[in-house]
Amino acid sequence: MSLIGIEKRITACEACPRLREHCLETARVKRRQFRDQDYWGKPVPGFGDPEARLLIVGLAPAAHGANRTGRMFTGDQSGLWLYRALHRAGFSNQALSEGREDGLRLHDCYITTAARCAPPGNKPLPEELARCGAFLAEELMELKRVRVFLALGKIALHALWRQLPEGIKPARTLPAFAHGAEIPLNDGRLIVCSYHPSQQNTFTGLLTESMFDRVFDVSREHLVSGEI
Ligand code: SF4
Repeated sequence: MSLIGIEKRITACEACPRLREHCLETARVKRRQFRDQDYWGKPVPGFGDPEARLLIVGLAPAAHGANRTGRMFTGDQSGLWLYRALHRAGFSNQALSEGREDGLRLHDCYITTAARCAPPGNKPLPEELARCGAFLAEELMELKRVRVFLALGKIALHALWRQLPEGIKPARTLPAFAHGAEIPLNDGRLIVCSYHPSQQNTFTGLLTESMFDRVFDVSREHLVSGEI
C-alpha cells in the first residue's frame, strides 16, 4: 500500500451508487459559471505532503468545488477559507486554491475527507461514510508522521474517531464536538476540533478567521512541543 496506490483506488471507486450518480450528474449539468470547464466528476483523493505531521479531515468534496476541480477544498468558498488559513499558518506556499495545476503545495500538512464523493445536500449517509472510512483507515496507516489531527466538523471527527486504533483512544465513546476542543490521544498525539469553514458557518459568523487561525496555532504549538 502507498498513498499513490490509495489514490488510484479512490478515483476508481464505485461503491456508493447514490453518490457516484450525483457526482456524474452534477458534472454533466454543471453550474452556469463553470459551463466551459470539464468537471472531474470522480471520487476525490487526499492531497498534500506525504511526510505531514498535520492531518486535516474534512467532510466531503463540494459538488461544484472539488467535484469540479479534482482536488480537495479547491474551487469553493470553504477552500478559500482553508487555504488562506493554511498559508497564514505556514502550511502552504500560497493562499489561493483554484485548480489542480495552480502550483499550490502543502508543507507538513495533508488534507483528506470522511467521504470522497460529493453528497446531495452535503449529507453523506452513514453507510456511505462507513464504506469510505476504509480509505481513511488506509491513509492513517500510510501517514506515519502525523501528530495532530484537525477535524473540520462533527462528522469528520466521528469518521476519524472510528478509524483510530482502540488502544490510543482515551475513551470508548465518541467525544463531544465543540469548536476548539482538544482531545489528547494515549500515544501523545492530539485531535483538534474546528467548525467546518463552510459558507453556512463563515457567512453567519459562527466561524471567524481569528477562530480558525486559533486552531492552527494550537496545532502548531503541539507540533513544536513534540520537537523538544
Ligand atoms: S464515497 Fe468513498 S466509498 Fe463511496 S463511492 Fe465515493 S470513494 Fe467510493
